[in-house]
Amino acid sequence: MDVDRDNPWARRFGRRQATRSRDYEPATARGIARHGVLSGLALLERLAGRLDGALRLPRIQILLLHHLFDDEVPRFVSLIKSLARHHALPSYDEATERIAAGSIERPTVVFTFDDGRHSCLRAGRILAEHGARACFFVCPSIIGERNEERIRSFCLDRLHYPPVPFLDWPDLEELLRLGHCVGNHTVHHANLARISSEQATEEIAGAKAALERRLGPVRHFAWPYGGYVNMTPDAVRAVFEAGHATCASAVRGCHWPGTGLVTNPVCLHRDNIVAAWPIAHSLHFLAASARRCDRSTGAWPPGWTAEWPGGRPTEDARART
Ligand SMILES: [Zn+2]
Repeated sequence: MDVDRDNPWARRFGRRQATRSRDYEPATARGIARHGVLSGLALLERLAGRLDGALRLPRIQILLLHHLFDDEVPRFVSLIKSLARHHALPSYDEATERIAAGSIERPTVVFTFDDGRHSCLRAGRILAEHGARACFFVCPSIIGERNEERIRSFCLDRLHYPPVPFLDWPDLEELLRLGHCVGNHTVHHANLARISSEQATEEIAGAKAALERRLGPVRHFAWPYGGYVNMTPDAVRAVFEAGHATCASAVRGCHWPGTGLVTNPVCLHRDNIVAAWPIAHSLHFLAASARRCDRSTGAWPPGWTAEWPGGRPTEDARART
Protein backbone atom coordinates (compact mmCIF):
# COMPACT_ATOMS: atom_id res chain seq x y z
CA MET A 1 0.00 0.00 0.00
CA ASP A 2 2.96 2.29 0.62
CA VAL A 3 3.79 1.95 -3.05
CA ASP A 4 0.26 3.02 -3.95
CA ARG A 5 0.42 6.06 -1.68
CA ASP A 6 3.55 7.28 -3.45
CA ASN A 7 2.26 6.55 -6.95
CA PRO A 8 -0.09 9.24 -8.33
CA TRP A 9 -1.35 6.83 -10.98
CA ALA A 10 -2.25 4.23 -8.35
CA ARG A 11 -4.10 6.95 -6.41
CA ARG A 12 -5.96 8.03 -9.54
CA PHE A 13 -6.99 4.61 -10.78
CA GLY A 14 -7.21 2.61 -7.54
CA ARG A 15 -7.17 -1.14 -8.02
CA ARG A 16 -9.80 -1.40 -10.72
CA GLN A 17 -9.12 -2.68 -14.20
CA ALA A 18 -10.14 -0.63 -17.21
CA THR A 19 -12.89 -2.36 -19.21
CA ARG A 20 -14.33 0.60 -21.13
CA SER A 21 -13.05 3.96 -22.36
CA ARG A 22 -14.61 5.90 -19.48
CA ASP A 23 -12.51 3.97 -16.95
CA TYR A 24 -9.47 5.65 -18.43
CA GLU A 25 -10.90 9.08 -19.13
CA PRO A 26 -13.71 9.67 -16.61
CA ALA A 27 -16.24 12.40 -17.48
CA THR A 28 -15.27 15.65 -15.73
CA ALA A 29 -16.71 19.19 -15.97
CA ARG A 30 -13.53 20.28 -17.76
CA GLY A 31 -13.80 17.38 -20.17
CA ILE A 32 -17.42 18.17 -20.97
CA ALA A 33 -16.57 21.86 -21.60
CA ARG A 34 -13.67 20.85 -23.87
CA HIS A 35 -15.98 18.47 -25.72
CA GLY A 36 -18.41 21.33 -26.39
CA VAL A 37 -15.68 23.68 -27.66
CA LEU A 38 -14.23 21.00 -29.96
CA SER A 39 -17.66 20.14 -31.36
CA GLY A 40 -18.27 23.84 -32.12
CA LEU A 41 -14.86 24.25 -33.78
CA ALA A 42 -15.31 21.09 -35.85
CA LEU A 43 -18.74 22.24 -37.02
CA LEU A 44 -17.46 25.70 -38.03
CA GLU A 45 -14.57 24.12 -39.91
CA ARG A 46 -16.88 21.77 -41.75
CA LEU A 47 -19.28 24.57 -42.70
CA ALA A 48 -16.38 26.66 -44.03
CA GLY A 49 -15.13 23.70 -46.12
CA ARG A 50 -11.79 23.84 -44.32
CA LEU A 51 -12.02 20.31 -42.95
CA ASP A 52 -12.45 18.57 -46.31
CA GLY A 53 -9.81 20.83 -47.87
CA ALA A 54 -7.19 19.84 -45.29
CA LEU A 55 -8.08 16.15 -45.32
CA ARG A 56 -7.71 15.98 -49.12
CA LEU A 57 -4.10 17.19 -49.04
CA PRO A 58 -1.64 14.60 -50.38
CA ARG A 59 0.29 13.46 -47.33
CA ILE A 60 0.99 10.42 -45.16
CA GLN A 61 -0.54 10.76 -41.72
CA ILE A 62 0.24 8.11 -39.11
CA LEU A 63 -2.44 7.70 -36.45
CA LEU A 64 -1.48 6.60 -32.93
CA LEU A 65 -3.96 4.80 -30.69
CA HIS A 66 -3.52 2.68 -27.58
CA HIS A 67 -6.66 0.63 -27.02
CA LEU A 68 -10.02 -0.33 -28.42
CA PHE A 69 -12.54 -1.15 -25.71
CA ASP A 70 -15.90 -2.70 -26.70
CA ASP A 71 -17.70 0.63 -26.25
CA GLU A 72 -15.31 2.31 -28.70
CA VAL A 73 -15.98 -0.07 -31.60
CA PRO A 74 -18.89 1.79 -33.31
CA ARG A 75 -16.95 5.06 -33.50
CA PHE A 76 -13.78 3.27 -34.58
CA VAL A 77 -15.64 1.60 -37.47
CA SER A 78 -17.17 4.96 -38.46
CA LEU A 79 -13.73 6.58 -38.38
CA ILE A 80 -12.22 3.91 -40.65
CA LYS A 81 -15.13 4.25 -43.10
CA SER A 82 -14.95 8.03 -43.02
CA LEU A 83 -11.18 8.09 -43.67
CA ALA A 84 -11.41 5.37 -46.35
CA ARG A 85 -13.61 7.64 -48.49
CA HIS A 86 -10.72 10.00 -49.33
CA HIS A 87 -7.59 8.23 -48.12
CA ALA A 88 -5.42 5.32 -49.15
CA LEU A 89 -4.96 2.89 -46.25
CA PRO A 90 -1.67 1.07 -47.01
CA SER A 91 0.36 -1.11 -44.68
CA TYR A 92 2.90 0.55 -42.36
CA ASP A 93 5.67 -1.04 -44.46
CA GLU A 94 4.33 0.58 -47.62
CA ALA A 95 3.54 3.93 -46.01
CA THR A 96 6.99 4.27 -44.44
CA GLU A 97 8.65 3.06 -47.64
CA ARG A 98 6.82 5.83 -49.50
CA ILE A 99 7.99 8.41 -46.94
CA ALA A 100 11.58 7.17 -47.30
CA ALA A 101 11.33 7.23 -51.09
CA GLY A 102 9.76 10.71 -51.04
CA SER A 103 6.83 9.31 -53.01
CA ILE A 104 3.61 10.69 -51.53
CA GLU A 105 0.89 11.34 -54.08
CA ARG A 106 -2.41 10.82 -52.28
CA PRO A 107 -4.06 11.55 -48.96
CA THR A 108 -2.93 8.52 -46.95
CA VAL A 109 -3.45 7.39 -43.39
CA VAL A 110 -2.00 4.43 -41.55
CA PHE A 111 -2.94 3.18 -38.09
CA THR A 112 -0.50 2.32 -35.28
CA PHE A 113 -1.23 1.05 -31.77
CA ASP A 114 1.32 1.29 -28.95
CA ASP A 115 1.96 -0.84 -25.85
CA GLY A 116 0.30 -4.16 -26.78
CA ARG A 117 -2.89 -4.06 -24.71
CA HIS A 118 -5.11 -7.05 -25.45
CA SER A 119 -7.83 -4.86 -26.95
CA CYS A 120 -5.42 -4.21 -29.86
CA LEU A 121 -6.38 -7.65 -31.17
CA ARG A 122 -9.98 -6.43 -31.54
CA ALA A 123 -8.70 -3.39 -33.43
CA GLY A 124 -6.54 -5.56 -35.69
CA ARG A 125 -9.48 -7.78 -36.61
CA ILE A 126 -11.76 -4.81 -37.36
CA LEU A 127 -9.09 -3.03 -39.43
CA ALA A 128 -8.52 -6.21 -41.47
CA GLU A 129 -12.29 -6.55 -42.10
CA HIS A 130 -12.20 -3.05 -43.58
CA GLY A 131 -9.10 -3.61 -45.70
CA ALA A 132 -6.82 -1.52 -43.48
CA ARG A 133 -3.56 -2.63 -41.89
CA ALA A 134 -1.69 -1.36 -38.87
CA CYS A 135 1.57 -1.62 -36.99
CA PHE A 136 1.41 -2.71 -33.33
CA PHE A 137 4.37 -1.53 -31.25
CA VAL A 138 4.88 -3.84 -28.27
CA CYS A 139 7.22 -4.46 -25.33
CA PRO A 140 8.27 -8.13 -25.15
CA SER A 141 8.61 -8.09 -21.33
CA ILE A 142 4.81 -7.82 -20.89
CA ILE A 143 3.66 -10.04 -23.76
CA GLY A 144 1.76 -13.04 -22.39
CA GLU A 145 2.06 -11.81 -18.76
CA ARG A 146 -0.60 -13.35 -16.50
CA ASN A 147 0.57 -12.19 -13.05
CA GLU A 148 -1.88 -9.49 -11.92
CA GLU A 149 0.60 -7.60 -9.74
CA ARG A 150 3.22 -7.47 -12.48
CA ILE A 151 0.57 -6.26 -14.96
CA ARG A 152 -0.62 -3.67 -12.47
CA SER A 153 2.82 -2.26 -11.77
CA PHE A 154 3.71 -2.22 -15.50
CA CYS A 155 0.48 -0.32 -16.28
CA LEU A 156 0.71 2.18 -13.43
CA ASP A 157 4.48 2.75 -13.41
CA ARG A 158 5.26 2.49 -17.11
CA LEU A 159 2.06 3.36 -18.97
CA HIS A 160 0.32 5.59 -16.37
CA TYR A 161 -2.83 3.67 -17.14
CA PRO A 162 -5.24 1.40 -15.24
CA PRO A 163 -4.40 -2.31 -15.42
CA VAL A 164 -5.60 -4.17 -18.52
CA PRO A 165 -4.72 -7.57 -20.02
CA PHE A 166 -1.96 -7.73 -22.64
CA LEU A 167 -1.53 -9.54 -25.93
CA ASP A 168 0.04 -12.99 -25.91
CA TRP A 169 2.41 -14.38 -28.55
CA PRO A 170 -0.37 -16.26 -30.42
CA ASP A 171 -2.30 -12.94 -30.60
CA LEU A 172 0.70 -11.28 -32.25
CA GLU A 173 0.95 -14.20 -34.68
CA GLU A 174 -2.73 -13.67 -35.53
CA LEU A 175 -2.10 -9.96 -36.17
CA LEU A 176 0.74 -10.89 -38.54
CA ARG A 177 -1.52 -13.40 -40.35
CA LEU A 178 -4.11 -10.62 -40.76
CA GLY A 179 -1.50 -8.60 -42.66
CA HIS A 180 -0.46 -6.23 -39.86
CA CYS A 181 3.08 -5.74 -38.64
CA VAL A 182 4.56 -5.83 -35.14
CA GLY A 183 7.10 -3.20 -34.15
CA ASN A 184 9.56 -2.67 -31.31
CA HIS A 185 8.60 -0.43 -28.34
CA THR A 186 11.63 -1.39 -26.12
CA VAL A 187 11.80 -4.30 -23.65
CA HIS A 188 10.25 -2.52 -20.64
CA HIS A 189 8.60 0.63 -22.06
CA ALA A 190 11.74 2.53 -21.08
CA ASN A 191 12.10 6.29 -21.02
CA LEU A 192 15.27 6.22 -23.12
CA ALA A 193 16.34 9.70 -22.01
CA ARG A 194 16.46 8.63 -18.36
CA ILE A 195 18.78 5.64 -18.66
CA SER A 196 22.41 5.23 -19.72
CA SER A 197 23.32 4.82 -23.39
CA GLU A 198 24.27 1.19 -22.71
CA GLN A 199 20.92 0.49 -21.06
CA ALA A 200 19.09 2.24 -23.90
CA THR A 201 20.92 0.11 -26.47
CA GLU A 202 19.94 -3.02 -24.53
CA GLU A 203 16.29 -1.89 -24.34
CA ILE A 204 16.25 -1.32 -28.12
CA ALA A 205 18.35 -4.21 -29.45
CA GLY A 206 17.20 -6.65 -26.74
CA ALA A 207 13.53 -6.07 -27.59
CA LYS A 208 14.20 -6.49 -31.30
CA ALA A 209 15.97 -9.82 -30.68
CA ALA A 210 13.22 -11.07 -28.31
CA LEU A 211 10.46 -10.20 -30.79
CA GLU A 212 12.33 -11.69 -33.73
CA ARG A 213 12.93 -14.99 -31.91
CA ARG A 214 9.14 -15.50 -31.87
CA LEU A 215 7.83 -13.52 -34.83
CA GLY A 216 10.48 -13.12 -37.53
CA PRO A 217 11.96 -9.83 -38.80
CA VAL A 218 11.01 -6.64 -36.92
CA ARG A 219 11.71 -3.51 -39.00
CA HIS A 220 10.02 -0.69 -37.16
CA PHE A 221 10.64 1.09 -33.86
CA ALA A 222 8.59 3.62 -31.87
CA TRP A 223 10.02 5.10 -28.70
CA PRO A 224 7.98 5.08 -25.48
CA TYR A 225 6.30 8.33 -24.36
CA GLY A 226 7.10 9.68 -27.84
CA GLY A 227 8.36 13.22 -27.08
CA TYR A 228 11.81 14.55 -28.01
CA VAL A 229 12.47 14.79 -24.25
CA ASN A 230 12.04 11.01 -24.04
CA MET A 231 14.71 10.27 -26.68
CA THR A 232 18.41 11.00 -27.18
CA PRO A 233 20.70 11.25 -30.22
CA ASP A 234 22.61 8.16 -28.96
CA ALA A 235 19.41 6.16 -28.71
CA VAL A 236 18.36 7.21 -32.23
CA ARG A 237 21.74 5.92 -33.46
CA ALA A 238 21.18 2.65 -31.56
CA VAL A 239 17.77 2.20 -33.23
CA PHE A 240 19.28 2.23 -36.71
CA GLU A 241 22.44 0.31 -35.73
CA ALA A 242 20.13 -2.45 -34.43
CA GLY A 243 18.80 -2.74 -37.99
CA HIS A 244 15.45 -0.95 -37.83
CA ALA A 245 14.24 0.69 -41.03
CA THR A 246 12.17 3.36 -39.24
CA CYS A 247 11.90 5.25 -35.94
CA ALA A 248 8.62 6.86 -34.87
CA SER A 249 7.87 9.57 -32.33
CA ALA A 250 4.48 10.55 -30.93
CA VAL A 251 5.00 14.18 -31.96
CA ARG A 252 2.03 15.44 -33.99
CA GLY A 253 2.54 16.06 -37.70
CA CYS A 254 2.31 14.30 -41.01
CA HIS A 255 4.56 13.67 -43.96
CA TRP A 256 4.39 15.84 -47.03
CA PRO A 257 5.34 14.96 -50.62
CA GLY A 258 9.12 15.08 -50.94
CA THR A 259 11.35 15.93 -53.84
CA GLY A 260 12.97 12.54 -54.28
CA LEU A 261 14.78 9.80 -52.46
CA VAL A 262 15.32 10.50 -48.77
CA THR A 263 18.89 9.46 -48.01
CA ASN A 264 18.72 9.52 -44.20
CA PRO A 265 15.95 8.17 -41.99
CA VAL A 266 13.34 10.75 -41.07
CA CYS A 267 11.76 11.19 -37.66
CA LEU A 268 8.26 9.78 -38.15
CA HIS A 269 5.47 11.85 -36.66
CA ARG A 270 2.20 10.41 -35.38
CA ASP A 271 -1.13 11.96 -34.44
CA ASN A 272 -2.59 10.61 -31.22
CA ILE A 273 -6.34 10.00 -31.26
CA VAL A 274 -8.75 8.04 -29.08
CA ALA A 275 -11.32 5.80 -30.74
CA ALA A 276 -13.97 6.90 -28.21
CA TRP A 277 -13.78 10.52 -29.41
CA PRO A 278 -16.59 11.72 -31.69
CA ILE A 279 -15.49 11.38 -35.33
CA ALA A 280 -15.71 15.16 -35.76
CA HIS A 281 -13.11 15.66 -33.00
CA SER A 282 -10.66 13.15 -34.49
CA LEU A 283 -11.06 14.70 -37.95
CA HIS A 284 -10.54 18.18 -36.46
CA PHE A 285 -7.16 17.12 -35.00
CA LEU A 286 -6.10 15.32 -38.17
CA ALA A 287 -7.04 18.32 -40.34
CA ALA A 288 -5.17 20.72 -38.03
CA SER A 289 -2.08 18.54 -38.26
CA ALA A 290 -2.42 18.24 -42.06
CA ARG A 291 -2.57 22.03 -42.41
CA ARG A 292 0.56 22.48 -40.29
CA CYS A 293 2.76 19.93 -42.07
CA ASP A 294 5.39 21.03 -44.53
CA ARG A 295 8.62 19.72 -45.99
CA SER A 296 10.46 20.17 -42.70
CA THR A 297 8.24 17.59 -41.02
CA GLY A 298 10.42 14.59 -40.33
CA ALA A 299 13.56 16.58 -39.52
CA TRP A 300 15.31 15.55 -36.30
CA PRO A 301 15.94 18.18 -33.61
CA PRO A 302 19.04 20.34 -34.26
CA GLY A 303 22.25 18.41 -33.62
CA TRP A 304 20.64 14.97 -33.88
CA THR A 305 21.76 12.83 -36.78
CA ALA A 306 20.23 9.62 -38.02
CA GLU A 307 21.55 7.28 -40.68
CA TRP A 308 21.16 3.71 -41.78
CA PRO A 309 24.61 2.11 -41.30
CA GLY A 310 24.30 0.12 -44.54
CA GLY A 311 22.16 2.59 -46.51
CA ARG A 312 18.37 2.60 -46.71
CA PRO A 313 17.06 -0.95 -46.20
CA THR A 314 15.07 -1.75 -49.33
CA GLU A 315 12.27 -4.27 -49.74
CA ASP A 316 14.80 -6.83 -51.11
CA ALA A 317 17.32 -6.29 -48.34
CA ARG A 318 14.59 -6.64 -45.73
CA ALA A 319 13.35 -9.89 -47.29
CA ARG A 320 16.85 -11.37 -46.98
CA THR A 321 17.16 -10.66 -43.23
ZN1 LIG B 1 3.99 3.35 -25.17
